[in-house]
Amino acid sequence: MSWFDIGVNLGNERFDVEAVLARSNAAGVSSMMLTGTSVAESQKALELCRQYPPTLYSTAGVHPHYASEFNQQAYAALFALCQAPQVVAVGECGLDFNRNFSTPQQQLHAFEQQLQLACELKLPVFLHERDAFDEQVRLLKKYRAKLVGGVAHCFTGNITQMQTYLELDLYIGITGWVCDLTRGLALREAVKSLPLNRLMLETDAPYLRPKGLANHRKLDNGNNEPAYLPYIAEQLAAICEIDIQLIKQHSYANSQALFGLRKQGNLHAN
Ligand SMILES: [Zn+2]
Repeated sequence: MSWFDIGVNLGNERFDVEAVLARSNAAGVSSMMLTGTSVAESQKALELCRQYPPTLYSTAGVHPHYASEFNQQAYAALFALCQAPQVVAVGECGLDFNRNFSTPQQQLHAFEQQLQLACELKLPVFLHERDAFDEQVRLLKKYRAKLVGGVAHCFTGNITQMQTYLELDLYIGITGWVCDLTRGLALREAVKSLPLNRLMLETDAPYLRPKGLANHRKLDNGNNEPAYLPYIAEQLAAICEIDIQLIKQHSYANSQALFGLRKQGNLHAN
């Protein structure tokens, strides 16, 4: 069984794709889901999946930063992308009122449209949220009955927010944020009560390189890479005082359960 990294921006210009995948495979991280952040990036992610089968999957969606670009054409383009067997989630979508690169109104519209798309296609959602928790939850509740599921990607919140997401039947995506002894304190506390059957792991590479990586383990290009996923799991195992193998098994099984069900033929138990 491999590790499953549910959040990789493999199309990022900082990456030499072949080299990144070679290092990931060597580290046992051979299943991953590539993040689509716009129509163009979602297209690019799908192309990478086609180029490097069989255990690459992708999302198709418009990140809240780009919500101002969301229109009927974008909806149709995402709808078409989601027909590909490699596309296993709608997103990343959600709300980010921290920087408001798109206005809150535009973000609410784009998010709601993508929730409708996910309901229509019976695909899970890959969710982004920053400084917009209450509005995010309000919209998730509105569509909950028809949504097949989702994951709170790059969750960095506190235990109360985590419980709210768990009550909405969401999975929780844990990144290297959990390795941060200053910014990650609330998260480090929260994960102690995260049930294993709700856990997913992600690097969000090339962003968010985990703190505390030993020098011999990290490249000096400054990037985060999927190859560092096992390090995040090690840190999580230490915080939660559980066996890292349990983390590996559960996070893999959860990822497969949420993203693989409708596209079972594509997921390999390697
Ligand atoms: Zn995100």
